[in-house]
Amino acid sequence: EEEDEFSGVYSIDVAVRVRPLNSMELADSQLHTVRVMDEKIVVVLDPSKLEGGNEDDYLRAHRSRERRYTFDHVFDETASQQKVYAATTEKLIGGVMEGFNASCFAYGATGAGKTYTMLGNKENPGCMLLTVGELFHRIEDDTSKTYRVYLTYLEVYNENIRDLLNPSTGYLDLREDPVKGICVAGITEFSTTNVGETMELLQRGNLNRTVEPTKKNETSSRSHAVMQIMIEAKEKTADISEQVKIGKLSLIDLAGSERASATDNRGARLVEGANINRSLLALANCINALASDSEAAARAGRNGRRRVRSNFVPYRDSKLTRLLKDSFGGNSRTVMITNVSPAGNQYEETVNTLKYANRAKDI
Ligand code: ADP
Ligand code: MG
Repeated sequence: EEEDEFSGVYSIDVAVRVRPLNSMELADSQLHTVRVMDEKIVVVLDPSKLEGGNEDDYLRAHRSRERRYTFDHVFDETASQQKVYAATTEKLIGGVMEGFNASCFAYGATGAGKTYTMLGNKENPGCMLLTVGELFHRIEDDTSKTYRVYLTYLEVYNENIRDLLNPSTGYLDLREDPVKGICVAGITEFSTTNVGETMELLQRGNLNRTVEPTKKNETSSRSHAVMQIMIEAKEKTADISEQVKIGKLSLIDLAGSERASATDNRGARLVEGANINRSLLALANCINALASDSEAAARAGRNGRRRVRSNFVPYRDSKLTRLLKDSFGGNSRTVMITNVSPAGNQYEETVNTLKYANRAKDI
């Protein structure tokens, strides 16, 4: 019984995706500061040291000083949406159909590719759509159970929750339901098993995201978009008393991480500044607490001891973490897709983003 305590240790799978340079950056001759070495290793090169030379010279000259990181998956700019999906959110589908919760966070600075990765467009649908499509397939194929599937799409902005599929309802509150877990009171639950319809729904929802006051068409970098799919499954042979299994999959397009870049202070609780996104900081603090926990568990395990007390995870500190309390940590599976730009002028952000992701990897 004692051994069991370690067999289900919580972990986060961390992927890094490097987007291509865009036409403006190419016209501007931005240097590539990110080099994908293989499927797990990425190297960041300081652009000030790259000036005048090339990346290969740099790598030869600065082997010992380069910033090299290892992740569960690293995708270069040629990686397709399908490839990223197959290594990340596709792996969450099975568990959710069995009644477990799971989540996937897209993390990174504004412009790094979070929305492209999660939502994408009609020609290149992202993880949200590819996941929903596969889920609908598997449900259709599984004749042993009856399923009810519905999804919601909301935004957390300025610590307020808004229904992106029905924004006229104003700010919504969180509730804790004894059966469904944490839910949002009064949110629109949309039932569909049609992928095209879902894409239209999510794209329409995205148009309802809060935009920057100065740039009318640009989604605010401080808005978190959360799509949640609820899957209720019941054995066809089950008698009345048998419980319905409910799984919840949360796919999150996070706010831009650029304001929260003081995150490399290992283990230290982050101080909230006036300009810092509270939900993003709370998420970082929860991840830090979970990471310290897993380190302590590993240490105790190595010493043949049983870890008795686990770290307090501050889920209550923000709307986003309260909403996702039952979807990361514990026995939920979590994937993080870290998006970075390869452009030289994003060097600092890229390093900060990878440091943050590296911390999550320890979980
Ligand atoms: P974010 O949501 O992180 O602010 P976006 O997803 O909006 O960033 O990406 C910024 C721009 O780069 C968009 O025009 C997007 O279409 C493009 N882009 C991002 N990632 C990729 C990619 N992997 N391949 C092609 N274009 C991309
Ligand atoms: Mg975006």
